[in-house]
Amino acid sequence: MIKPIIIGNWKLNGTQQSIKNFLKLLKNFLIDYHKKCTVVISLPVLYSYLMQKLLFSKNKNFFLGAQNVDNHCSGSFTGDISPFMLKDIGIKYVIIGHSERRFNYKETDRMIANKFYLLKQENLIPVLCIGETKQEKVENNTINICKKQIDLIFDVCGIKAFNNSIIAYEPVWAIGSKISATPQEAQFIAGFIRQYIHSQTKNRIKNFFIQYGGSVTQYNAKNIIQQKDIDGFLLGRAALQIEEFIAIIKTINM
Ligand code: PEP
Repeated sequence: MIKPIIIGNWKLNGTQQSIKNFLKLLKNFLIDYHKKCTVVISLPVLYSYLMQKLLFSKNKNFFLGAQNVDNHCSGSFTGDISPFMLKDIGIKYVIIGHSERRFNYKETDRMIANKFYLLKQENLIPVLCIGETKQEKVENNTINICKKQIDLIFDVCGIKAFNNSIIAYEPVWAIGSKISATPQEAQFIAGFIRQYIHSQTKNRIKNFFIQYGGSVTQYNAKNIIQQKDIDGFLLGRAALQIEEFIAIIKTINM
């Protein structure tokens, strides 16, 4: 059985003090859950040293993630951070293509595919967010949208692109709302994603995971994780409250 992977995306939140408080509780909890699941916190990267100092060395199932990366390696790109820099400070997982980046920063599928390519060059693990808007769902376009978002990765990165990588299916309408996809809806799309990736790669793929993200709570986590093609969660709000975060990890391990 696949070891579930839970990624918490802290977005633009956190202070040194809040991180200390969060980790005090997470630390003891993770020791018990050492072998049961992989936990990643994608924090604002300037806090990664603090996180490493407080927690990292003692917990082998815990990793640091980033929420974004630039699509260049170096040069005159004020304010940006390269894949190499992320690797250099100990980041392992990198979220790309989050709908907030697609919509607020006008990131295109091509830019996201370039980021994916550069992350693979550095042996970092891309967490590619894909998913449809409410309108696209109503128009019955979910599969087409997901396929299009995946296809450009194959075009830019080749047939082996998804080895050692994660796709997070995140319906845009579910993110930050009160409504998650039903377990059946999430499974239907996750099932499509797995079958599509396998068909394109002729089943030659290793270490490929599919997460669900969008209004996951301790109350709906169990039913969603029980779906055959869902290997974990990408959490937003639930990753900011340590009690909720721990409750979700417990739920999926029961
Ligand atoms: C997200 O922003 O990717 C997300 C899943 O948020 P939330 O869990 O708060 O819906």
